[in-house]
Amino acid sequence: LLRVENVSKHFKVGRKILHAVQNASFQVERGQTIGLVGESGSGKSTLGRTILRLLEPDSGTITFEGVELNKLTKLQMRSRRQDMQMIFQDALASLSPRMTVGDAIEDPLLVHRRGSAAERAKRVEMLLERVGLSPDMVNIFPFELSGGQQQRVGIARALALQPKLIVCDEAVSALDVSIQIQIINLLQELQEEFQLSYIFISHNLSVVEYLSDYVVVMYLGQIVENAPVDELYAHPHHPYTRVLMDSVL
Ligand code: ATP
Ligand code: MG
Repeated sequence: LLRVENVSKHFKVGRKILHAVQNASFQVERGQTIGLVGESGSGKSTLGRTILRLLEPDSGTITFEGVELNKLTKLQMRSRRQDMQMIFQDALASLSPRMTVGDAIEDPLLVHRRGSAAERAKRVEMLLERVGLSPDMVNIFPFELSGGQQQRVGIARALALQPKLIVCDEAVSALDVSIQIQIINLLQELQEEFQLSYIFISHNLSVVEYLSDYVVVMYLGQIVENAPVDELYAHPHHPYTRVLMDSVL
């Protein structure tokens, strides 16, 4: 589904050059979850955003369903992005304060001109139900909801266009542990139902290991490990992986 090859991204901070991501390569197959872990500042979000071309890579290639994303025009990329969504730690901040819950979920359908008004309303209702929210919530505003409910709205919005890949950037990190588990279970149910692939970004290895087929570890902008969970635990290659593992046990 997705192949990331030798992707690098730097930022200029004053006169200094910061190599946020260096030569990152990994793959995601359909229906897989890839966990992306690493300490704060290791480049996880930068890599996630670069994959969706919300940031332009300096070098390297990103191939999605056989199409090299770097070669697409802005307009072609906009259309491609229907298949690739992102959800964030702060669901509320990612939703417009002027949109009701219903508007927020319908918005991507409007932008990409999908369906009639009646079809869109039906889809919004189905999505609300699928993420465990009451259809009555269409008319209230996200700020009136709890953090877990807000994240459910973020997920429903991400699902609106039937994407194939969702990049979840610390999507549960701000929530209470019991709510984290609910959202993780929801993401897993949705994965089976809609054949989704996830790139699940987190600094918390225990959350990642629970969900992921493969775990990719980033350290100072580089991928230092990429292995199935059990293999990672059995044969960690990089000292930082041990540090991560110790933080779980
Ligand atoms: P966290 O776990 O805290 O979210 P992260 O692994 O997601 O961290 P990134 O946000 O990708 O890390 O940041 C990687 C590095 O790039 C950091 O040193 C950060 O300060 C820097 N950085 C990220 N975005 C920018 C930007 N827009 N301009 C300048 N520097 C940036
Ligand atoms: Mg981040």
